Amino acid sequence: MSIFAVRGLIFHTTDDPAANLRAWQCLEDGILVIEDGKIQQLGPAAELLQQLDSSIPLLEYSNCLICPGFVDCHIHYAQTRIIGSPASGLIEWLERHTFPEELKFEDDEYAATVAAEFFHELLRNGTTSAQVYPTVHVGSANQFFRQAERLGLRVTGGKVLMDRNAIPGLLDGDQKGIDETEALIQAWHGKDRLSYSITLRFAGTSTEQQMQACGNLIKKHPDLLFHTHLSETLNEIEWTLGLFPECADYLGVYEFYGMVTDHSVFAHCIHLSDSECDRMATAGASAVLCPTSNLFLGSGLVQPSRLRDHGIQLCVGTDVGGGTSFSMLRTMQELFKVSQLSGDSLNAYDLFYLATLGGARALRQDRYIGSFESKKEADFVVLDAGDCRLLQRKFKQSNSVEDLLFSFVILGDASNVRETWSLGRRVYQRTRWFNIRRS
Ligand SMILES: [Zn+2]
Repeated sequence: MSIFAVRGLIFHTTDDPAANLRAWQCLEDGILVIEDGKIQQLGPAAELLQQLDSSIPLLEYSNCLICPGFVDCHIHYAQTRIIGSPASGLIEWLERHTFPEELKFEDDEYAATVAAEFFHELLRNGTTSAQVYPTVHVGSANQFFRQAERLGLRVTGGKVLMDRNAIPGLLDGDQKGIDETEALIQAWHGKDRLSYSITLRFAGTSTEQQMQACGNLIKKHPDLLFHTHLSETLNEIEWTLGLFPECADYLGVYEFYGMVTDHSVFAHCIHLSDSECDRMATAGASAVLCPTSNLFLGSGLVQPSRLRDHGIQLCVGTDVGGGTSFSMLRTMQELFKVSQLSGDSLNAYDLFYLATLGGARALRQDRYIGSFESKKEADFVVLDAGDCRLLQRKFKQSNSVEDLLFSFVILGDASNVRETWSLGRRVYQRTRWFNIRRS
């Protein structure tokens, strides 16, 4: 049995603050007790110090904010190296940068190298869970899962299904892609902390045959997530409806093939009609808000409050490499700005919820992660002011936790991540990189 405790300013959300204003807990001087990688207890230091055995190691983090590890619900590991590449919009971005880069992942060694870079960036940014796109290549998915397993991370992902409208090396053929997906599910789903998401690039790059086969796969595996893109740009919507003329709207394409369920996670959801919003909410599907990507590619301004008012479960994604940062703090910052433009701004509690427990709920992992509830897995991040003097001052001057959280959202980035912990193991420390090998 291994047991230790961490002490500091501890914050987590316990439910959606949009539904329940008090759905968060903050301990200014708190202690989190971790036993065998799981949360055993959380409470005020003044109380727990009396109860804890003095032999239990206590890690003290003064002037730090300890919160659950971030959950990035939509990111492409194969696009790690093309972040920050210019394009006039989504289609040019895909053709000029994405497809040529993704072609390189037929080489396992290349996939392994980029996967290592990707996980380093995730942990450096305090992200402990993610839903990830590899490429169409089986080897790229294997490298992703293999390295996540070695790090002991709770992640989900799946080989991309696409059999038309891309360059030849990225097309998997309708049944071949499905067979490969089945084999990957058998190899990885439920292994350690890994799970499999049935992953389609988007409707426009799959034939009707592959869409049908993918729908059948979803029906066969109702416990698996289904992950794809939806309603990112107006051009894409028009193009998609031209390919599936029998469908009245974009969501209708996925509905037609049985792909809209309470395990469906749709990235972007910028231009949905009221009817599409209502149908997504009724199905229990989730929308991943990806503001840095939407701004970078000029895709449009998502309206978080509108989607939420329709009853859609929301979460946040960086969408690297269309997204411009691995940092969920930066992503929250852009989401705040976009929400300002929509006329109904999100507050700091909303933003932290979406980046932690909200993400865990969307990925159906909230019984394991997303908050500091007892028995959950000890995935957490230790944030500090780093060398940002503005934040250093905020630590001294903030008169509320909301004020401090908001300062991290607006001023924070990877440089404020002091340590990242996964399942009670320190997997990243600023200036030091741990390659944890699990026994
Ligand atoms: Zn994406």
